[in-house]
Amino acid sequence: SKSDQIFKNLIAECEAQGLKDTVQVVKTGCFGFCEQGPIVKILPEDSFYVRVSPEDAKELISEHIVKGREVKRLLYNRDESKKRARVEDIEFYQKQFRIVLRNCGVINPENIDEYIARDGYKALERALFDMKPEDIINELKTAGLRGRGGAGFPTWMKWNFTKQAAGDVKYIVCNADEGDPGAYMDRSTLEGDPHSIIEAMTIAGIAVGAHQGYIYIRAEYPLAIKRLQIAMEQSRGYGLLGKDILGSGFDFDIEIRLGAGAFVCGEETALLASIEGERGMPKPRPPFPATKGLWGCPTVINNVETWANVPVIISRGGDWFAKIGTEDSKGTKVFALTGKIRNSGLVEVPMGTTLREIVYDIGGGIPGNKAFKAVQTGGPSGGVITADYLDTPIDYSQLQKLGSIMGSGGMIVMDEDDCIVDVAKFYLGFTVEESCGKCAPCRVGGRTLYNILDRITKGEGEMEDIERLKTIGKAMQKASLCGLGQTSPNPVMSTLHYFEDEYKAHIKDKR
Ligand code: SF4
Repeated sequence: SKSDQIFKNLIAECEAQGLKDTVQVVKTGCFGFCEQGPIVKILPEDSFYVRVSPEDAKELISEHIVKGREVKRLLYNRDESKKRARVEDIEFYQKQFRIVLRNCGVINPENIDEYIARDGYKALERALFDMKPEDIINELKTAGLRGRGGAGFPTWMKWNFTKQAAGDVKYIVCNADEGDPGAYMDRSTLEGDPHSIIEAMTIAGIAVGAHQGYIYIRAEYPLAIKRLQIAMEQSRGYGLLGKDILGSGFDFDIEIRLGAGAFVCGEETALLASIEGERGMPKPRPPFPATKGLWGCPTVINNVETWANVPVIISRGGDWFAKIGTEDSKGTKVFALTGKIRNSGLVEVPMGTTLREIVYDIGGGIPGNKAFKAVQTGGPSGGVITADYLDTPIDYSQLQKLGSIMGSGGMIVMDEDDCIVDVAKFYLGFTVEESCGKCAPCRVGGRTLYNILDRITKGEGEMEDIERLKTIGKAMQKASLCGLGQTSPNPVMSTLHYFEDEYKAHIKDKR
C-alpha cells in the first residue's frame, strides 16, 4: 500500500542521511482522520503531516529532521500564524474523547513495550492481585458499560450470568466479525491496539472463571489477524497470557477463529456455531450464550469495542468512566463517519454528543455546500435521522426513540441529491443477500420487500405498495428468528416514516 511505501522510503532516507540510529520510524494504527491519509506524525514536535505520498519521504527527512524546518505544504493546518498543526488544534479531534481508540495512531501495535508504557496490562495486574472476581464485575456495573455491538445490553450483567452459571468449563469470546457496510471501527481497533482486547478478555476470564478465549474475526481483515497473532505471542512471552499468568496460578489462553465473511455470523448464536465448526446459523434464544453458549458451556461474548473499554474501566475505575456520557449511556462511542461528509473517518465521542456536532464540527459539514438530508446510523439494521433531529444527543435510548439504533457505529451521511428509496433498497439488498434462509419471515419477507422497492425505484410501483411495505416490514420485525431478520426492514420503515412523500413521488412520477 501507499503507507507501506512511505514507511519504507522514510527508513531508506534515514539510512541515506546517516540517521539510522537517531531517528525511529514506526508504524502505528489508524489516526482516524481517513480523509487526510496517509498521515505522518513527527515527534517530539507533534507535526501532523497529511496526504503524504511516498515521494515526500525525502523532503520530510532532509527538511524537518535534518534542518529542523517543517514542510509547510504537507501540514494539515497551513495557517502561517500557527507554528505547527498539533493534533489538539485540529477541529476533527477537538470534540473527540478517546478511550477505545486511545492507543490507535499513538503506539506501534506490534510492540508490547509501547502498550505497557501507556499503562497496558496494569488492569490485568489489578484484576489478578487486588480484586476478587465480584469486584471486577461490580466495577463494570459502576461504570455502566453497555455492549457496543448493537443491542446495548449491560456488560456486567452478561458477565454475572456466566459467573453464576453452573459448570467448570466456561468461555470468553470476542466478536470481531464486523460486517456492516461502511463500518470499520473494530478493524481499526484491532489493527491499532490488539493488546487491549487480549488484556480485556483475560480479565473477563478471571471474573467468570474461564480459561479459554476465542477471537472470531473475519478472514478479510488480514492485518488485524497478523497483529493479533503477534500480540498474543508477545503476551505469552511476557507471561501475560497462557499458563500461570504473572505467577498468579491463573491460566488463560486465546485462539483465533476465522470467519468467511457471512454477515449473519455476527449474530452471537451463529458465531458460536461457526466456532464449533458448524454452519453459521442462528438458534432461538433463550437459552442465551451467557448460560449455554460454546459447546453448551456458559460463554461471555462481547464485541471488539466493548472489550477495548474494559482495561480502562478496571485501571481508572468505574466511577471515572460513569462520569462520561449520559444517564442512559455511559462512556464514548466510536462511529465510522462516511458518505457525503468533508472529514470522513473514525470518530470517538462521549455519548450525548449531538449529531450536529458530529456532522458539522467534527465532520466539517457536507461538501459542495449541499443541504444535509439525513444520516443512517446502525448500518443495515438501523434507520435514518433527519435534519430536524440534528440537535438530539446521541445515546441508545434517543436513537431508538427516533426509530434508529446505535448499532455497531456506522454513520453514513446523505445530502439533498441522495434518493432515500435507493438508500433503503441498498441496505435491504445487503440483508437479503446475507440472510441465512433458515426462517420464512426473513427469507421470503426480505425478498418481497426488496422486489417492491425495486419496482418503485423503476417507476413501476403503485400506491398500495406503501401499505404492503409497512405490513411486511412489521411482520418481519415480529416473526424473524434472529436480529438480522428482525432489524432488516428498519431502513425501509424508518425512511417511510420520515420520507413517505418521496416514495409517493416515485410512484406518482410514472403516471
Ligand atoms: Fe436466518 Fe434471517 Fe431467520 Fe436470522 S432471521 S435465522 S438470518 S433467515
